[in-house]
Amino acid sequence: MKSAEIRQKFLDFFAAKGHQIVSSSSLVPHDDPTLLFTNAGMNQFKDVFLGFDKRPYNRATTSQKCVRAGGKHNDLENVGYTARHHTFFEMLGNFSFGDYFKRDAIKYAWELLTEVYGLPKDKLMVTVYAEDDEAYDIWHKEVGVPAEKIVRIGDNKGSRYASDNFWMMGDTGPCGPCTEIFYDHGEKHWGGPPGSPEEDGDRFIEIWNNVFMQFNRDEAGVMHPLPKPSVDTGMGLERISAVLQGVHANYEIDLFQALIAAAARETSDADMNSPSLKVLADHVRACSFLIADGVIPGNEGRGYVLRRIIRRAIRHGYKLGARAAFFHRIVPDLVGEMGEAYPELKENQAKIVATLKQEEDRFFATIENGMEILEGELAAMADKGVTVFNGETAFKLHDTYGFPLDLTADICRERDVTVDGAAFDAAMARQKEQARAAGKFKMAVNLEYAGAETTFHGYESLDAKGKVLALYKDG
Ligand code: ATP
Ligand code: MG
Ligand code: MG
Ligand code: MG
Repeated sequence: MKSAEIRQKFLDFFAAKGHQIVSSSSLVPHDDPTLLFTNAGMNQFKDVFLGFDKRPYNRATTSQKCVRAGGKHNDLENVGYTARHHTFFEMLGNFSFGDYFKRDAIKYAWELLTEVYGLPKDKLMVTVYAEDDEAYDIWHKEVGVPAEKIVRIGDNKGSRYASDNFWMMGDTGPCGPCTEIFYDHGEKHWGGPPGSPEEDGDRFIEIWNNVFMQFNRDEAGVMHPLPKPSVDTGMGLERISAVLQGVHANYEIDLFQALIAAAARETSDADMNSPSLKVLADHVRACSFLIADGVIPGNEGRGYVLRRIIRRAIRHGYKLGARAAFFHRIVPDLVGEMGEAYPELKENQAKIVATLKQEEDRFFATIENGMEILEGELAAMADKGVTVFNGETAFKLHDTYGFPLDLTADICRERDVTVDGAAFDAAMARQKEQARAAGKFKMAVNLEYAGAETTFHGYESLDAKGKVLALYKDG
């Protein structure tokens, strides 16, 4: 089954159960300053869950474009390292706005997976929120999942990979306990069932999360009950496609194969299993969809995240031998794969190509010198047996050669080296302080010579730097 068909079957299944098919919203959330990018299907329905917005339907289903590269859900660093994480992915979802609750949500999910998609029941495992006896009983007594395939899990155990059965969109907003469905890809892959010490492995892969939306978390962390208990679910299209196409990693599905081949063509790389090709295939989707939705590369906020993704892609191309702009040439292949389902890609193709090309030309001008410094430092460190990269040098790479901190960290990680983030932050803060002092001086001069009406723009750019810093800390 091709991913396009898997997507359609999901939507048709829920439409037949009385759900309105709603189109994906933009990756740039409207009117929601708490959110960097759309990170889940429920985002566009946030106000419906909160009771502020009413829709002519109380059941909906979507295939939502998502980006997780900043903010609460940040998978940028996982890309290329795990079988299951992308920066951009499609989330299939069904939603109940005060209509059905736990019982129907669980039964629909099971029916779709085992009857429509035909998955073998013994390959599936589920988790429930530790205290949620109701969900446990529905799975066990009504659906018939054996006790040894149901795991109770609490919230936030600390590890970034650890299962977590209390879902939150961000630090504030709708949230609630959840039940998740995992697929066992078999013994040949390392890893243990959810909740076990080996759960970080890629044998048991989470495919679907069913969230029982019950609370609105405020800034102080207080949970307020929602007007009506609701349901929000999310299943990664790429993950269910891997399962249904009998492959292990998302990167082996139909949709990705064409992109990996295109990346290999543009970098002349012969090893189709190179992690860098996966990174390129992933990043061309995130960058193109973000640009199509109006994000432009820049030095702060969303634009800076986009720039970081583009530069990370360029660095992986550089690693494969590219020495001039190449990344934008993968865009037509992406449009060929996904332009039908997402016409905005086709409509914005020229803009996407031009934007990427411009960013590439810019970064290719400094990457070589930056890489020399970085490699020099790494070689000197290896001689001395040092495994923490100097934060001052990381800052210099950032400031002079346009290497975002996570780019330096990504390169270091390949050599089992970490970056001294605190020293990086200190160098950044020092520069900010110097700029502020210079700004004050300039302002004093301006006021003296140009009168009190002088507009002072210094703090605006300082603010931008402050935001960049916050972004690093975030993710
Ligand atoms: P994981 O634990 O694997 O990081 P998650 O628990 O963070 O996933 P949810 O927030 O529950 O994911 O999102 C719902 C579903 O969206 C997941 O079950 C998965 O199928 C899919 N998904 C989440 N993050 C990604 C990603 N980075 N790339 C691809 N699919 C994803
Ligand atoms: Mg995650
Ligand atoms: Mg998870
Ligand atoms: Mg989850």
